[in-house]
Amino acid sequence: MTTPRDPRDLIRQHDEQAMAGEDAAVSDVVGPVDSVFTALWRWILRTWARLFGKPTEKAEGGRLRDLLDELTAKIVGIGLDPADALLHHAQRARLMGADQGAREAGIPSLTNPGEVSQETRDAIDRGVKWAQEKLATGADELKRLEQADLAEVLRQASVARQAQAILERTARTTWNNELNEGIRAAAKEAGARLVWVAERDACVDCLALSGRVVDWDGEFDWRLTFGKKAQRPPGGVLKGPARHPNCRCRLSPWFGHDTEGALSVTHDWADAIKEAQARGDQVAVDAARRAAAAAADSASFDLPAALRREAERSILNGYALPSEGEKVRIQAADRLLAAIGTGKNSRAPSGWQVPASVKKRAERALRKGTFTTRSVPTAR
Ligand SMILES: [Zn+2]
Repeated sequence: MTTPRDPRDLIRQHDEQAMAGEDAAVSDVVGPVDSVFTALWRWILRTWARLFGKPTEKAEGGRLRDLLDELTAKIVGIGLDPADALLHHAQRARLMGADQGAREAGIPSLTNPGEVSQETRDAIDRGVKWAQEKLATGADELKRLEQADLAEVLRQASVARQAQAILERTARTTWNNELNEGIRAAAKEAGARLVWVAERDACVDCLALSGRVVDWDGEFDWRLTFGKKAQRPPGGVLKGPARHPNCRCRLSPWFGHDTEGALSVTHDWADAIKEAQARGDQVAVDAARRAAAAAADSASFDLPAALRREAERSILNGYALPSEGEKVRIQAADRLLAAIGTGKNSRAPSGWQVPASVKKRAERALRKGTFTTRSVPTAR
């Protein structure tokens, strides 16, 4: 017996590739805006020093008016229009998702991964409009200042600069949505279902979905959470990640942990291999071999179970991002421990027997009200 290949290795490679793509989208979309604002900040500091001298000086009257008029004109003049760049990167994300999904499912690359979805187009329009509004309201409020020192001017100018953060969030969310739409297209093509894959330090809502499986066009149960109450997605429908801003979850095609089913698929592929060999088509032979191997892996390694176990471990170990409150994680670990119970052979909700050492460590964290370390260890 050989050890079955863990599909998470490939999925994590793909995740790194996707993160690099996402960062490229952000720097493309947000980079130019960032340069404009950085230059604008320098201009404010320089002009203030020339007109009023000290930063603490209270400026008012005509000279303040002149400064603010010029500043607001510059802000309004930024003329934010990143919609094309956002759309371009969304399309790239879909292609990457389709490619990665095809590789994870062991099928050849898709000839038609589809167009950017209407949801993503709407999200782009909304994000751009919101960012533009931020610029306008920021400029408006600056104009209304009657008297101000430098800190006050910068504080008001920062309202306009929030446009930058809005664009970044839009770029990241739409990238992840389309990446997963591409993966969905690959699952459809492969005749596979979809499994939710969360990072080990994902939030309590996302971790509860890790390892859950739906049909390629299905919906996930958004009510699942290790926390108190899961956040309701817009419209009450959760088709996949991104679930919230900065969600790093992803989908992966899944054929099912079903040896018999996988064997029959493998058998179909064996015929395909023979046929391709008879035709002398080496590309088709290789593709069919990969598909057979993927189906066999899918059967021999229970990915959903492994993911659910991993998620429960994360809750017990308190692995989390700094952005998630420790209290939330302490309460989640408390709730999970109660569900596991204290019996010697007690099992976690997903079915694995939780080692006493893991339970003890979690209990210690609960008593102290804090986890010793919250970050995921790098060596697995
Ligand atoms: Zn997530």
